[in-house]
Amino acid sequence: MFVFSSIEQYHAQLQEEAITCLQAVEYYLQKIKATSHLNAFIEVYADEALQKAKELDEKRKAGNSLGKLHGIVVGLKDVICYKDHKLSASSNILKKFTSIYSATAVERLLAEDAIIIGNLNCDEFAMGSTNENSAYGKVLNALDETRVPGGSSGGPAVAVQAGLCMVSLGSDTGGSVRQPADFCGIVGLKPTYGRVSRYGLIAYASSFDQIGIFGNNIPDVAVVLEVMAGADEYDSTASLKKVELYSSQLKDNKKHRFAYFEVALNHPSLDPEFASAIKKKIELLKKEGHEVKPVEFELLDYIVPAYYELTTAEASSNLSRYDGIKYGYRTLTPALELTEFYKQTRSAGFGKEVKRRIMLGTFVLSSGYYDAYFTRAQKVRKLLTDKMQLIFKDFDFILLPTSPTTAFKTGEKMNDPIAMYLADIYTVMANLAGIPAISLPLFWHSNGMPFGLQVMSNRFNELSLLQISTRLMKKPFRSIERTEVPGL
Ligand code: GLN
Repeated sequence: MFVFSSIEQYHAQLQEEAITCLQAVEYYLQKIKATSHLNAFIEVYADEALQKAKELDEKRKAGNSLGKLHGIVVGLKDVICYKDHKLSASSNILKKFTSIYSATAVERLLAEDAIIIGNLNCDEFAMGSTNENSAYGKVLNALDETRVPGGSSGGPAVAVQAGLCMVSLGSDTGGSVRQPADFCGIVGLKPTYGRVSRYGLIAYASSFDQIGIFGNNIPDVAVVLEVMAGADEYDSTASLKKVELYSSQLKDNKKHRFAYFEVALNHPSLDPEFASAIKKKIELLKKEGHEVKPVEFELLDYIVPAYYELTTAEASSNLSRYDGIKYGYRTLTPALELTEFYKQTRSAGFGKEVKRRIMLGTFVLSSGYYDAYFTRAQKVRKLLTDKMQLIFKDFDFILLPTSPTTAFKTGEKMNDPIAMYLADIYTVMANLAGIPAISLPLFWHSNGMPFGLQVMSNRFNELSLLQISTRLMKKPFRSIERTEVPGL
């Protein structure tokens, strides 16, 4: 039986001829089929993936030099363009749309010999925390099918959690990689804003969006980041900063300075088991000689409102392009004039949550309310960014929970959007401040579900973030039991 534990181990097996890329792809295709009820995949590119695997096996046998991601089986969230493949942001308004180019991130993975196996379910336009807002239906958490996998990247998280691909790409605007990683018990990284090109990523809130990575371990995530990151002539917000070779520098033995927010650990919404697990971890870090100190953080209650005001404002502008003329779905109801045509197309094409956000966003931007909401939220964003810079003068990392609770039960929060939004309390600050953050699967709750520790570092400090994550992941609570498929 093929067992994937890391890219390094898989590459060693390929070199020893213990396995081929073709066998690996065949294994994943069978497993995807056997777990199709999880609804993680929207489309599986079976023939293409098999063909690519054969080519890679030949390339290896011919002794040609191999890409860093040789034969790595990758899934893509349905918001990332892959040329000549369907892309819909899990929305009816884009059903039948086909990408005419590939995202820069995807081009770079392919250039290093990755195999794209399919595209993955998510909340419509990446808006949500449970993957229940998808036009393709909900995704199930493979550890407990009565629970959600988190969102908006529920499909990419479950694909890695259930072992349906080796790594996957998601997008993180306010936590959509870290929170589902936390709910599913895997690693989820959101890089610094501008570290990975957004060219070919469907925009939700452009000043927040980043492509992120799901994986089983830190070295896998590190090598994928190394391949994808860097300047891009198609995205002026992609930083020109040199990309470090993360994957070959993961070891460090330094003593570090960690900050944590007492107000976050004592927050009434936080599950008490989370608080005690993180406090124990803090004591352990101190014992190992690190400096770990509480810092004042007075902005906690303002950041979720600021995030939702700014992201809905940006979303209302970004989503104006889906008008039935340029892209995707167009109403068949005869409309006599243009405004009516737009109205009918957009009313039928967008789902409930997307409509709610467009309305919120246009309200926030409307004259008379602009200063009261948009401008004030921008001020909160600036205060938060300044506060973070101040903290990073004295500390290397900030420790936080990723989410206040373990994975919700399906339907639990669907009728209470405010409660759903408030659960983003710990993830949105990294996007508001543009800093990198990672969710590490370190803990298990007495309810049987995993939960993570979130670590944040200063802008472009991905290397030290990945180094400390490697050390923190050394002694996981208990390793994830993979969902096994009988007969495979
Ligand atoms: N839950 C957040 C939202 O709904 C995060 C979404 C995201 O990161 N794409 O906006």
